[in-house]
Parts: sequence; structure tokens; C-alpha cells
Amino acid sequence: MATASIQHLSQRIRQMEESATIKMAQMARDLAAQGHDVISLSLGEPDFDTPAHIKEAAKKALDEGYTKYTPVPGLVELRKAIQAKFSRDNGLEYGLNQIVVSNGAKQSIANICLSLLDEGDEVIILAPYWVSYSEIVKLAGGVPVLVSADIEKDYKASAEQIAAAITSRTRVLLFSSPCNPTGSVYLKEELKAIAEVIARHEGIYIISDEIYEYINFTGKHASIGAFEEVKDRTVTVNGFSKGFAMTGWRLGYIGAPEWIAEACSKIQGQFTSGATSFGQKAAAYALLADMTPTFEMREAFRQRRDMVIELLGKIPGMKVNRPQGAFYIFPDISSYFGKHADGITINTADDFCEYLLHNAHVAVVTGSAFGADNCFRISYAASEKELREAIRRIGEAVSKLQ
Ligand code: PMP
Ligand code: GLU
Repeated sequence: MATASIQHLSQRIRQMEESATIKMAQMARDLAAQGHDVISLSLGEPDFDTPAHIKEAAKKALDEGYTKYTPVPGLVELRKAIQAKFSRDNGLEYGLNQIVVSNGAKQSIANICLSLLDEGDEVIILAPYWVSYSEIVKLAGGVPVLVSADIEKDYKASAEQIAAAITSRTRVLLFSSPCNPTGSVYLKEELKAIAEVIARHEGIYIISDEIYEYINFTGKHASIGAFEEVKDRTVTVNGFSKGFAMTGWRLGYIGAPEWIAEACSKIQGQFTSGATSFGQKAAAYALLADMTPTFEMREAFRQRRDMVIELLGKIPGMKVNRPQGAFYIFPDISSYFGKHADGITINTADDFCEYLLHNAHVAVVTGSAFGADNCFRISYAASEKELREAIRRIGEAVSKLQ
């Protein structure tokens, strides 16, 4: 009889890493299910509920019968709202046929990579980078090329570094600002310098992931696609998960050159079709409604950031910077490498995170998942009480290291 074997899984899936953020969140849930008092600062997800007026809009849409398939790139009503939002907030003018709504920004990024990459094409990813970038790029046949910056540089790569990494195989530059996992925000002049480098090279496209746009403490968000020289070579990615606390709704979108938008729709038409109908109606409403809840959430995140920086800064050996956006802090913990406690030696950030999970019952994510081996990520999208207790526990665990 023929055997069934895990060895028959495709190379494609066997080579893929599991998402470290999702894996760590599950490990924390499992430990909690065993009765441990675990504080999970692993998953990057607002702890706030979706604002009530957005939920009401979804309920109304359901009652009005928005329960059917929608056009693959999204309801016209939502694309019009996105068009207005891009113009209002980003100085980006897109036609409706340049906008594609997906089941989350994650799907949007996969659509773009599958549309632009052939086997062996290089994608410059600014590191530290969000976990899924490298795996999506590899799935599409691309080769991730990391351009890194450390904490001394606020984790921001320079235009010169990017220029030096470009080869004849480079097809895409991919990054997020505000950045997951570092919280760093690229300033307008930094983006301008990057745009000028890309503009000098034929056939290189920018994927600008702006999903944390509304969680920016610097005042004004800047979109690289607004620079004339790269306007027709930039895909701007955004979504509802972070700014509107709508992670479970699964709604993301892009603004792109028409031919890329068409390609993304083509892929999506074969994989998943249009995003959830009544969710799209609520999303259209959210974009044009009162944004006060979004700005209140941003203010809450800013206050937590300040508290987290202050508390972490008191832990000897913990190196922190001052992130300007998102809800992450990304300390450098290399000063603990080589130290040990409770029979465990900390040689890597993975060891450190495992030590925190089992000895302090605090779940965080190792920097190695984000292309930064000396660091770990704390998501501070949690209550002040949880954050204080988690950092107290981290401090206690660190004090035992010798
Ligand atoms: N980009 C970044 C930088 C993220 O942190 C996330 C986190 N979810 C995503 C994209 C994907 O978001 P979505 O929930 O819209 O798929
Ligand atoms: N983007 C979030 C994070 O980085 C959510 C989890 C995920 O989609 O990877 O934690």
C-alpha cells in the first residue's frame, strides 16, 4: 500500500518558517491554559475594541443585506473612501482602478510580491523587519537582501546603504514606517533621499507598508509614494487592523500603479475573491467618520511608550531607544549574552526570550525573527497594569543573570 508522509509536503512549505509572532502568542496561551499567570506582550495587536460606531456600521450593513460576494478589488464605496483618504492624509492621488482591498495588509503584500517577483529576483528589506516579509518574498521566489541598522541609528537604514545593496537583480525595496518591530519612523527627508536612490534605477519598485500610519508620535506621517520621482513605482500598503483596532476583521488595501493593481486583483480572484462584504461597508464608514477614537488610542499608546521606556531604562544592561511610532519597543540585550541563571545560559536573543517565558512568565518575541539577533520585541499594546508587572518581572529575571 502507498504510504502517506509528511515528506510529501512541497519544498515551498517545508522551507517556510512559521510566523514567530503567532507562534509565541500561541506558546503564551498554552502556558496560560496550564494555569500559569502569563503576561503576553508578543502579538502586535491593539488591546482596544473596535470603536462602537464602526461596529454599528457593520451591523447595519448586515441588516441591509450586504452578505454577498463583492467585486474582487473591493466595493466601489470603500475604494472611493480609500481614494479620499489617500488624498486627504497622504497627498496621494489614485484612481479607483489603482486601489485593491484585501483580507488584510498581509494578503496585500503577498499579492504584490507574487505579482512582481520571478525566481531569483532580489528584494531589499530594511532590517529589523516584520517577520512575514522574508517568508512572503521567498514564497514568491524572491531572495531577501537585508539592509540593517542597529539601535545607535534608531534602527533606520540610510539611502547610501540602500544604494550600495542594489544589483542588477533588485526588483523591490520593502519596508514599514512606522516600523514593526522597532517603532522607528522615517522622516520626510529620509524618505526623499531613499526615493532619489530608487529613481536612479530602472525597474525597481517600492512597497511602502504604512499600516501603523495613525500610530505616529512625530506629528505628521510621510508617504514615500508622494514624491514625484517614485510616484509610479510605489505601492502604498495600509489597512484597518492597527489604526482602527480591527485586527479580526481582516481588511487591508493598496494604492498602486494600475497594472500592479490589476495583477493583484487577478491573483486575489483566484485565491480569495473580495474581502468580507459587510466589513467593507463598515471600513468605508470608518475612514470618513470622526477619527477621534483613533487619535485617543494613539495618545494612550504614546503614554504607554513613555512609561515603558522609563521602566525598561532602569534595568541594568537593557539598552532602549525612543521609538516614534507603532506600539513596539525593541531593546538591545546583547549585554546579557554569556550570562546564566537557573542552569540556563543566555547566548542568543532566542535563549533570552525562552528564559523570560519560562522563568518570568512574560511572552515577548526574539529579535532573530525580525533579522536582529541582539534584540527582542515588546508589544506595549497592553494595559498599564500588565506592562508594569511584566517589566517588573523582566527586571527580576535579568537581575538573576550572572
Ligand atoms: N504589516 C505590518 C508591518 C504589520 O505589523 C502587520 C501586522 N499584522 C501587517 C502588515 C499585517 O496586517 P493585517 O492585519 O492587515 O494583515
Ligand atoms: N503584525 C502583528 C505582529 O507583528 C500581528 C501578528 C502577525 O500577523 O504576525 O505581532
